[in-house]
Amino acid sequence: MELLDGKLVSAHIKEEIKKQVQEITSAGKRAPHLVAILVGENPASQAYVASKVKNCGELGFESTLVTYDADVAEEVLLNKIKEFNENKLVDGILVQLPLPKHISEDKVIETIHPSKDVDGFHPVNLGKMMLSLPTFIPATPYGILLMLQHYGIKTTGMNCVVIGRSNIVGTPMSLLLSRNAEPGNCTVTICHSKTKNMKEICSAADIIVAAIGKPKFVTADMVKQGAIIVDVGINRVESTETKSGFRLVGDVDFENVKDKCSFITPVPGGVGLMTICALMKNTLLANLNNQ
Ligand code: NAP
Repeated sequence: MELLDGKLVSAHIKEEIKKQVQEITSAGKRAPHLVAILVGENPASQAYVASKVKNCGELGFESTLVTYDADVAEEVLLNKIKEFNENKLVDGILVQLPLPKHISEDKVIETIHPSKDVDGFHPVNLGKMMLSLPTFIPATPYGILLMLQHYGIKTTGMNCVVIGRSNIVGTPMSLLLSRNAEPGNCTVTICHSKTKNMKEICSAADIIVAAIGKPKFVTADMVKQGAIIVDVGINRVESTETKSGFRLVGDVDFENVKDKCSFITPVPGGVGLMTICALMKNTLLANLNNQ
């Protein structure tokens, strides 16, 4: 088994991004500028946004963090996004999800101008992705493709099972792996909560991408010998071994699956780091398009 090491790959890609930023600024142009908007005090969202802002600093990007209380009016948030849409010094805008119930996520996503939608969630960008046109690919599936590419994994002809059909992970991942490209050219099966015979379907897969949000859902008996396992899940479970009383585990039973597969992503240290890297690549692309 070989580990698909998010730390190693993301460090490599971040070095490349840093060099590109240096070239941009040496040529007298603006460094990429990402705006992150956080609503409320969800600890996981706070941690994700803090990490995105920190990464901007490390790469020479500018960043602006805007925070709102959980009871902020939807209109206030939408007006702020419109203000950043008009601001020529801003390349990318992200609003950390999930949002409080009184705010429509669809409206928020559709208000971000597609040219600044570095999360790749806007219907225009998802449509372009479906048509294989140049666009911002949603960060988690994009990060997974970058990871497969880095390890030279050729997916053409493979049977792939994606578990989970969310708009931000499962559905775009399944499209990207099935399109005529490398990585891609897979025969993809999408599983969800209504799927029957999950074990049988997964056991035939050359690649399993698990994006469910259920700790250790994928067990060794669901995995074919030599399969490639991509674990997207981030689940907080109680632990007596950590100070906080919690630890992070994926959607895959790593300990029991690892000896059966050819490649596997750890949690933490796998897909999560690649997701941030992909977001930074999208922000750099937005900057190059906007100069
Ligand atoms: P989500 O929107 O909650 O979607 C979960 C999907 O899993 C749904 O399609 C659901 O099916 C399916 N599902 C739930 N229970 C199932 C079951 N028992 N059997 C089969 N399918 C089942 O989640 P998400 O946003 O895609 O995130 C999934 C996980 O990835 C979470 O742990 C999240 O924290 C993590 N995540 C990690 C990253 C990263 O960077 N590493 C990024 C995003 C998300 P239905 O559609 O039928 O309900």
